Amino acid sequence: MFDSEFYKTIENSYLFIQENSRLQTLSKLPGGEVTATEISKAIKDLKRRKAPGLDCIQNEHLIFGGPRLFACISHLFNAVINIGRIPSIWKTDLIIPIYKGNNKTKSSPDSYRPIALLPCLMKLFEKILTLRIRDHVLPSVSFPNPQQQGFQPKLGCITASFNLQETVFHNLEQGSPVYVAFLDTQKAFDTVWRHGLMCKLHQLGVKGSLWTLIDDCHTDTSCSVAVNQKNSNWFPISQGVRQGGVLSTFLYLVFINDLLQELQNPNPNTGIHSIRSSNPALADDISCIALSPRGLQTLLNTAYDFSIRWRFKFNASKSNVLYFSPTGINNNSLSWKLGHDTIKISKSYNHLGILLDAKLDPTERTAKACRKGQQTYFALKISEHLNPATLSKLYKRIVLPSVLYVSELWCDLKQKDNRALDVFQHSICKHAMNLPKHTRSDMCESIFGLLPIASEIDKRKLQLFGRLCLMDTKCLTKKIFLHRLFSYLDSPNCKHYGFIPDIIHLLDKYNLLEHLNSYLQNGLFLNKLEWKKTVNSAVFYHFTTFRSNRMLRDNDFTQFRHITGNSRPDWIWKLPNDVQEVTLCKFIVKLWTLQDLPPHICSLCQKLFTNIFEHVTTSCDGTYLFREAWWQTVIENFDINLSADLCGLSNNDLYLFLLGASSSMPSLIWYIKYVE
Ligand SMILES: [Zn+2]
Repeated sequence: MFDSEFYKTIENSYLFIQENSRLQTLSKLPGGEVTATEISKAIKDLKRRKAPGLDCIQNEHLIFGGPRLFACISHLFNAVINIGRIPSIWKTDLIIPIYKGNNKTKSSPDSYRPIALLPCLMKLFEKILTLRIRDHVLPSVSFPNPQQQGFQPKLGCITASFNLQETVFHNLEQGSPVYVAFLDTQKAFDTVWRHGLMCKLHQLGVKGSLWTLIDDCHTDTSCSVAVNQKNSNWFPISQGVRQGGVLSTFLYLVFINDLLQELQNPNPNTGIHSIRSSNPALADDISCIALSPRGLQTLLNTAYDFSIRWRFKFNASKSNVLYFSPTGINNNSLSWKLGHDTIKISKSYNHLGILLDAKLDPTERTAKACRKGQQTYFALKISEHLNPATLSKLYKRIVLPSVLYVSELWCDLKQKDNRALDVFQHSICKHAMNLPKHTRSDMCESIFGLLPIASEIDKRKLQLFGRLCLMDTKCLTKKIFLHRLFSYLDSPNCKHYGFIPDIIHLLDKYNLLEHLNSYLQNGLFLNKLEWKKTVNSAVFYHFTTFRSNRMLRDNDFTQFRHITGNSRPDWIWKLPNDVQEVTLCKFIVKLWTLQDLPPHICSLCQKLFTNIFEHVTTSCDGTYLFREAWWQTVIENFDINLSADLCGLSNNDLYLFLLGASSSMPSLIWYIKYVE
């Protein structure tokens, strides 16, 4: 199945490197001895509240150990480095299986996500090694391949998606069909061929004792699985980077890096003009972009050959091809081979959590996002006594991010999609505040303290624009962004897809074009925080102006306008201190949103009324005694001037006062409490 000749060659060169490095081991780490100051700096960044490994030492032990402990640790680490051997207890992983849920069969190991607990001292040691590699090895090599977006500061899912989508869009605009294969690697991190990895690491420039130590970290490792508070027998692990290890993500990038280099060779021209972007990757998630079916097959062959040599498996059944056609005509008869297995063409594919559609139709993606939001919201298992203000915070921090994940790149939203998103958010608002379904949705949204979901998406897109402007010009994403921006500005009347036309529209909509212009003219842009503030206030201002104009025109808002005035109506949720008051506030809010009905006859006093609340609080004979009692308490408990002011109000103003039109006093809450 794998290439055995190649295996022998690499194993031999591994032994050769190991032998040579051992001879050099007496030399110290690049950068010299480990010092107590270095240890204390590294310890400062450790996360708290993490489970310990087998040695039972927790990060807190290290953090609060003080300078004496830092000195001890530095001696220990220097001893480990001098001997060139990792203590055997540092090579033990305690594995905790976490059930993945989703009704997966509990008896299958694949239904569990293993979490590995490594000794904290081991992790600290690895951190020191990582820093030494960062400072003394990486500056002199070009690593990783610019298309790799995984595990690097400021890069990630969003830049990987951006690179992929914009490359597809650019080629579509040029009138070319685009074929994209998404490769799925089986248990990528756990199946890494360790000796192969060590050879690659040596080639990268990691040598001497640094190499020996990393090699020893991955020799004779063993692990035990903890289930129901019992540990299994220890068993050896001979492949894979160590789960939970600090170096592991870096090591995986080293292992996979040559594949990205090899994939670039067969089609140097695929990308955006001279920018090579045919293989956007996020760690083990690698995609191949080609402009012809044969071109794609060449890439797949390259990937497959690499996997045979370097001993890992692609999962053909989970890999997919999307075909983007400039004419919209599909050709479903095509298929490709990954080794001996066939990869089928699909209509859509979930790439890094963002659903890509071959016809660029966002409907399915929007529907999925709404479903996810509903699941997340109802998973919160909310009690009806919870203050809606708390719920609103939970919604903004937990539900909304899950719905709007990577929405920065939703650049083709149709009216239909916006409506679906609105319906979703409105239904949550009504559920959270217990308001009837027919209540005006925009009222509900504002009482719940939310902006429309479309404004939230706009904000995220504008933030991404800022991030792109501030990004290092060496970044692939930045190069793509600038290229796409200039080609749009050169010919704004041609058909453009993607992020740029969208962002230009938004900058215009929110009066922010001056920032783009100053960036284009002199390369200056606000810093991250200033830009965030600018965006938030521009979007908020735009929306509140829009809403108050609408409220002025719409008769449904007459009462609501009186009550809320210019203040944000979600102030009401600041009142409740206990459970009963939450119920009461919900009741008031329900009254706020009542609309004028045709005249009714009161069942208590047989008089006609149009506004039930005004009637009950000011003129109903049936509630006369309650009103008397209320006036009595006002007179007894408050300043005489207040009673006089209240007496002078018209019926209409009095009931509005009771509903909270004067937010300085919790009128109705107070009223009902005393009258009871
Ligand atoms: Zn009445």
